[in-house]
Amino acid sequence: MPPPYHLPSPRWSQGARALSQFKRRLIERPVKPLPTEEGDICVICFDELGDPDGLTHCRWGCGRAVHGECMDRWLLRRNDCVFCGAWWS
Ligand SMILES: [Zn+2]
Ligand SMILES: [Zn+2]
Repeated sequence: MPPPYHLPSPRWSQGARALSQFKRRLIERPVKPLPTEEGDICVICFDELGDPDGLTHCRWGCGRAVHGECMDRWLLRRNDCVFCGAWWS
């Protein structure tokens, strides 16, 4: 008789479904942008963040900010947050 853990488990597939629902919730609800403070720097160019209008925030992870222009350049190579690795859009 084979050990029970070789059998496909219905509980596992329920867990997988719950996980994909959880991921979808994450994608649907953007996080609040974190406020920046005087002297905060952009981790891409290490310059001061400065004018909030020129910034872009991580929406699906940590909410931290970098320069919009720097993020555009970063996104040419990859599509995730510099800080937390969350999917970026
Ligand atoms: Zn920058
Ligand atoms: Zn992030």
